[in-house]
Amino acid sequence: MSRLSRRSFLAGSAALMAAPALAQTPDLKDVDVVIVGAGAAGIAAARRLIAAKRSVAVFEASNRIGGRCATDRAFFGVPFDLGAHWIHNPEANPLITQATQAAQSKLDIYPAPRGQTLRVGARNALDGEMETYLAGLVRAQRAIHDLGKFKSDVPASRLLPGDLGGWRSTIEFILGPYALGKNLANVSAFDLARAVPRESDAFCRQGYGALLAALAAGLPIRLSTPVTMIYWGGKALIVETNKGDLRPRAVILTVSTNMLNEDKIEFIPPLPKRPLDAASRLSLGSLDHIALDMPGNPLGLQQDDVVFERGQGGRSAALLADVSGTGLHMVEIGGDFGRGLSGQSEAAMIDFAGEWLSSLFGSSARRAIRRARATRWNQEPWVLGAMSAAAPGDAGARKILMEPVGDRVWFAGEAVHETQWGTVEGAWESGERTAERVLRAIGGARTESKAPGHSKRTGRTSRTQRKPQRRSSEQR
Ligand SMILES: Cc1cc2nc3c(=O)[nH]c(=O)nc-3n(C[C@H](O)[C@H](O)[C@H](O)COP(=O)(O)OP(=O)(O)OC[C@H]3O[C@@H](n4cnc5c(N)ncnc54)[C@H](O)[C@@H]3O)c2cc1C
Repeated sequence: MSRLSRRSFLAGSAALMAAPALAQTPDLKDVDVVIVGAGAAGIAAARRLIAAKRSVAVFEASNRIGGRCATDRAFFGVPFDLGAHWIHNPEANPLITQATQAAQSKLDIYPAPRGQTLRVGARNALDGEMETYLAGLVRAQRAIHDLGKFKSDVPASRLLPGDLGGWRSTIEFILGPYALGKNLANVSAFDLARAVPRESDAFCRQGYGALLAALAAGLPIRLSTPVTMIYWGGKALIVETNKGDLRPRAVILTVSTNMLNEDKIEFIPPLPKRPLDAASRLSLGSLDHIALDMPGNPLGLQQDDVVFERGQGGRSAALLADVSGTGLHMVEIGGDFGRGLSGQSEAAMIDFAGEWLSSLFGSSARRAIRRARATRWNQEPWVLGAMSAAAPGDAGARKILMEPVGDRVWFAGEAVHETQWGTVEGAWESGERTAERVLRAIGGARTESKAPGHSKRTGRTSRTQRKPQRRSSEQR
C-alpha cells in the first residue's frame, strides 16, 4: 500500500509514481469521482453520478452506512434510530419517493401523529394551559419567519415575543435545543428564518436509517476506509485512504463541518481560509437520544406520542413514546444542557432520563426501564456533533461552502443547504446538486439520465416547525 504524506509530496514526485493499491482494484481503476462519506449526501451523490454513467468510489470511515441517519437493531432487538428519525414533509421528501419506488422495498412508512402532549409537573396540561402554550408557539414561529424589521442578523432568541410568560422556557427548548441542537441565543435569526417550514412528518417502522441503507444498496461503498489526505494542488488529484490511493477527477466531501473544523483530513496544499472559516461558522449543535426499553406502555401514552414539559429552565427534555409500537421510548436532550450531560457519560444521561421521566410520570416510570442506551454524537469520532446551525451573523457561510476548491474538491451535506440544513432531505438534496455540478465540471453526463426517482425539490426543515396541534387533556 502506498502511503502519501506531506513530506513525500514535498520531496518530489516519487509518491506520484507509487502504485496505489486501491487503483489496482479493477472496479476502482480510472474512477471519475471519489465521494467521502456514506451518509445521506454521499449516497445521493453516488446514485446521481452512477445514473449519469460515471464511475464512483464511496469511502466511509466508520463500519456502517448512513452517518447521522443510521438504525441499530442489535442492541434492543427492534429498530433504534441513532440519529434522524423524523421524515419531514413526506409528500415531497425525495428519500420516500425513491425508497418506495424501489421494487424490493418492504419499508413501512406511516404518518406521524400530529398532536403533542404537554405535562405540567406530574399532570397533563389543562385545556387553557394548552391553548396558551400553542398560541405562544405559533406566535414565536411567526416572529422567526417574519424578519421584516431586522436589517442585520441577530440571535434567534431575540425574535421571540416578550409575553410568552411561563411557556417561554418550553418554547425556547422546542425551537432551539430540541429542533436544532443549539440554544436560540447561539443561532442566527436569518439562518432559522430561511428554513422551510414543514407541514407534516412520517416515520419508517424499520427506521429512517434502514430506509437510507435501502437506497444505498448496490453502491460501491467501502466501509472502514477513512480518507486521510487529499492532494488537490498539483497536476493530479490524489485521494489517500488507509487502504491506498486513488486519482479521481473530482472529490465530493460530505463530512460534517465539525470534522472539517478538526482538521481530520489533511489537505495538500491546505484548504483556503474561505471554506474553512465558513465551516467554523456552521458548527454542529448537540442532540442525543436516550433510548429506554419500557414494554407494556407503563406511561399510558399513545404510540409515537411526543411529550414536552412546562420547563423550569435549561434542564429540559422531550419524549417520543413507544416508538412505532416497539416499547422503545426516546428521551431527547440537546443544546447547552445536552452537550454538558453527554460530555459526562452515558450513565449520567440514562440517570437523567429516569429522573426526568419520574418527575413527569411518577417514580414507577424509572422502575419500568428494562434496558437503556444513549447516543453521544459529540463523541462520535467521524461526526463530532448533531447538525449545523449558523451562529448569529454567519448565515452566509452555507453559500460559501457551495463553492468548489480548485474546481476539484466539492463540499456537500446538510450544512451545504440554505433552506433544509440540519435534515436528511437537505443532505440528500445537497448531494444530488453537488453531483450535478461535478458532472458539469468534468464534462457532463455520458448518457443523459436521471437517478431512479430523481427529484427536483424537497420541502421543509427543522423538526418542530410543523403546525402545532393540540391534544386535549381529556384525550389522555
Ligand atoms: C440525534 C440526531 C437526530 C436527528 N434527527 C433528525 C430527524 O429527525 N430528521 C432529519 O431529517 N434529520 C435529523 N438529524 C440530522 C440528520 O441526521 C443529518 O442532517 C444528516 O443525516 C446528515 O447527512 P450528511 O450526509 O450531511 O452527513 P453524515 O450523515 O454525517 O455523513 C458523513 C459521513 O462521512 C463519514 N466520514 C467522516 N470522515 C470521513 C473520512 N475521513 N473518510 C471517510 N468517511 C468519513 C462519516 O462517518 C459519515 O458517515 C438528526 C441528527 C442527529 C445527530
